[in-house]
Formats: sequence, C-alpha cells, structure tokens
Amino acid sequence: MAHRVYCFNPGPAQLPLPVLEEVQAEMLDYKGTGMSVMELSHRGPDYLAIHEEAKTLFKELLGLGDNWNILFLPGGSSTQFFHLPYNVLNGNGKADYVHTGKWSDGAIKGAKLFGDIHIAHNAKNADGKFLYVPSQDQLDIRPDAKYLHITTNNTIAGTQWMNLPTTPNNVWLVADMCSDLLWRKFDAEPFGMFYASAQKNLGPSGVTVVAVRNEFLEICSDDVPDMVSYKVQVSKDSLLNTAPTFPIYVVGKVLKWLKDLGGLDAMEKRNRDKAQLLYDALDAKPDYWIAPVRKDSRSCMNVVWRIRNDETLEKKFIAEAKTAGLVGLKGHRSVGGLRASIYNAMEPAGVEKLVEFMSAFAKANP
Ligand SMILES: *Cc1c(COP(=O)(O)O)cnc(C)c1O
Repeated sequence: MAHRVYCFNPGPAQLPLPVLEEVQAEMLDYKGTGMSVMELSHRGPDYLAIHEEAKTLFKELLGLGDNWNILFLPGGSSTQFFHLPYNVLNGNGKADYVHTGKWSDGAIKGAKLFGDIHIAHNAKNADGKFLYVPSQDQLDIRPDAKYLHITTNNTIAGTQWMNLPTTPNNVWLVADMCSDLLWRKFDAEPFGMFYASAQKNLGPSGVTVVAVRNEFLEICSDDVPDMVSYKVQVSKDSLLNTAPTFPIYVVGKVLKWLKDLGGLDAMEKRNRDKAQLLYDALDAKPDYWIAPVRKDSRSCMNVVWRIRNDETLEKKFIAEAKTAGLVGLKGHRSVGGLRASIYNAMEPAGVEKLVEFMSAFAKANP
C-alpha cells in the first residue's frame, strides 16, 4: 500500500483513491490500445468515447436536459472571468456581480473590460473581510442586466450560498462554482451558464467544465475569437484545439465514482455530515477555536477558523497536524488562520481524524 495522508489542500485537492488506482491500472495500456490516455489522439474513437461519457455523466448527475452543452476548456476558472463577459457584453452590455471575496473580485475585474458592471451587493466589511453571503433582499439587481454573477462557494473566505438567489425576468443567473460544483444537486433552470475548474471538486488541474444552455448561447456574440467563443466551442465539442485529454479522462472517472457512491443526494448528505462534525467541534470551544463566518453562510467545502487569534499556536497546529498525517490546513495567505478543505473526495474518516486531533491539541495547548 502506498503511503497516503489526508489532504485538506484547497486546490489542487485530494482525489478519490479508487480513481487514482484505476488511472494507475490503465496508465500504460488503456483498454487494450497499448497506449496511455495521454498518447491517444484527441480525435480518435478511444478518446472520443471518454469525452462523450464524461459529458453524459455530468449531465446525468445534475439532471441537465438536452438544452445544456458541456464544454471542457483550458485556462481555469480565471479565464472564464473574461470569456463570459467577452461573449455576452459586447462592450456596452450590462452585467451585475455579487462581491463575496477574492475570486468574485477577479470575476469583476475581468468583466469591467467588456461592459457596464454593477455590484449588486458588496459583502466586504470594514476590516476587509467577507463573512457572509447576502440574502435575496440585499441584492440590487438591474432589470436590464444580461446576467447576475455569483460565486457559489468562496474558497478563501469559507462562505457558501446555501440558497441560490432569484433574478428578475430576462436576467440569467451565472456562477463561478469552482470550489463546490457537484457537492449537491441544484435547480439549473435559472442559470444561463456555470463553470468550475476541475482541481477542487471534479478532478485534476488543467481543465475547466463550462455548462452553457442553448438559450444563453443566443445572447452570445459571434464576434469573439474562436478559442474564447462559447458558440464555436459548442459547435466543435471543445475540440477546436488539442483538448486537455488526460484531465478530462480523470474527471470522467471522478463522475463515475460519484454516480457509484449514490449520486449527488448521497454526496450532499456525506458533505453536510462532514461539515457538521467539524463545525460542532469548533462551536464546542468558541473561545479557543474562532470561526468567523456567519452561521447561515458557513461553507460545507472550506471550513475556516483561527486558534485564539494566536499565530504561533496556529503554526504549531499545522506542523503537528502534518506529523499526524493531516496536511494542507493552513489558511489562505490573505486571511491567515486555518482552513480545512473537505470537498467530495474527503473521506468522512479524514474529518473524524481531524476532529480527534483538534481535541487532543486543545487539551495539550490550553
Ligand atoms: C480556485 C478558484 C478559482 C480559480 O481557479 P483557476 O483554475 O486557478 O483559474 C476561481 N474561483 C474560485 C471560487 C476558486 O476557488
């Protein structure tokens, strides 16, 4: 058995062990081709079957209809920050954005180059922190905006939209779901598009899943470069250029793993149980573990906290956790403290072990 730790990294994040084992088993000879998936032509039948199956599984897990197109694009979610407005805004179109953290800031900056951008809500507090996601009545959405952009899970701040907002007629909802896509089912009906790079919850880095519906394509411009154009990428099935074939193959395996585990309802329960276990441990010692996020906005994917606002103690925690086989618990450099990323692939046993470690640490370092 290989030596494996519980990896709480925010991304690239832990992958399911059965997926890694399958990839390993198929590494040198993929299904009798005598080649690795990395060596298959992206236009040949063996690879195309992988491509097709990944799209089908993705749509099946989310219950998306025939009007949805699934793209596998390079460039990460960061590239979607400008792809989206470039396609839709044509220089003067309106789009509204909810500002809930560092990643939404990137999306807003990317959009400002292409249209008239309005902040529907700014969740930054006087200390520069993002501790909640807004409620519906806090959103100021322009009725003539083409879309409202939200970040469903704020990986750094540790906040998550538990209830998705509604938008006025003709204003599409669009979302950066980079760090929580497929953590549960959601109603895709209000959405025009959503996107997520794979390395948080879907697979390895190198590919971004972009879901765009036909009705949204109709408001996309014809006047953008091919690689950036949702219309062209849909018409070419993401194979305009050499697609990131190996990451797509691994994403397909993760989707299959999700389906075999019982699909997204089972995954949601597992994710909520893991998060509950960790938040309960934090709440049991509120003077010691400081969990800053407003309770109704707490993320089930990225749990952030501090230890008595004591950096020295936090460093000790991180080092001792690592020795105990619990790695990646350092908070993002912009907020400090601790963060446990407990995406789909994190086994409940990993969170149980973390909670036990925390209890022992708190006793030894009162
Ligand atoms: C990680 C992350 C991104 C950036 O993803 P890249 O693939 O590195 O471009 C964007 N948004 C959110 C919410 C993220 O967590």
